[in-house]
Amino acid sequence: MIKIAVYGKGGIGKSTTVSNIAAALADRGLRVMQIGCDPKADSTNSLHGQAAIPTILDLIRQKGDAFSLKDMTVKGYKGVVCVEAGGPAPGMGCAGRGIIAALEKLKEKGAYDIYKPDIVMYDVLGDVVCGGFSMPMRKGYADAVFIITSGENMAIHAAANIAMALENFKDRGYARLAGIILNSRNVKHEEEKVLELASDIHSAVIGSLSRSTVVQEAEELHKTVIEAYPASSMAEEYRILAAAIYKEAQKRR
Ligand code: ATP
Ligand code: MG
Repeated sequence: MIKIAVYGKGGIGKSTTVSNIAAALADRGLRVMQIGCDPKADSTNSLHGQAAIPTILDLIRQKGDAFSLKDMTVKGYKGVVCVEAGGPAPGMGCAGRGIIAALEKLKEKGAYDIYKPDIVMYDVLGDVVCGGFSMPMRKGYADAVFIITSGENMAIHAAANIAMALENFKDRGYARLAGIILNSRNVKHEEEKVLELASDIHSAVIGSLSRSTVVQEAEELHKTVIEAYPASSMAEEYRILAAAIYKEAQKRR
């Protein structure tokens, strides 16, 4: 089982990218599980096509422990197992703490042993790398971390913070940084800026994605680009990125 976490600034394109990678890997016959670690709980929308699915934290709030693994998961495109950790009611608790509780519950209910995924992907908001949001990179949840960024300064700043958190944990056997993904916003000197970031944090840009209207068109259909527009050049970009991520993650297993 390969376990990766994808971090990045809010709105940078984590969920879209992770879902397209999930779909691309599922197309190759791999068993994929995608876990949204974001209180918005919208990580897997384009895989299952629904407006929302029950979150783990909702289930815990409503049922205590009286629910099953099946209640926490929804099968999406090509059988991708979709999970949303969820979050506290606004103002009513700590989102990071919620992620910890949700991931522990998922493990306790046997998700990894029962579904036996070939690859597990955590989609994690990286604006605040507090104890909770750093959970997927600790305690054996993920082996490899990828950071998505554009050339925008705020995205680069968030990426550098995430890399610093990983660096701080590195002697404890936690996940390691496996590469940077450039999700283009077409800002000036974008590639140079992201290459410079990669060099500063001793990493490499392992893939890049163009900015394309096809991404939003697929989103309108509540689908991934892979499903909605498989013949598009954007779908091919996602397939190439999926292969690169899989290869880099395998090295760090
Ligand atoms: P959040 O932190 O809020 O969860 P996110 O990082 O998961 O955000 P997404 O929801 O995946 O970001 O993407 C934000 C928006 O950017 C979406 O509307 C998505 O369609 C768009 N987007 C992402 N990548 C691209 C791209 N390569 N080209 C065009 N639009 C994109
Ligand atoms: Mg998201």
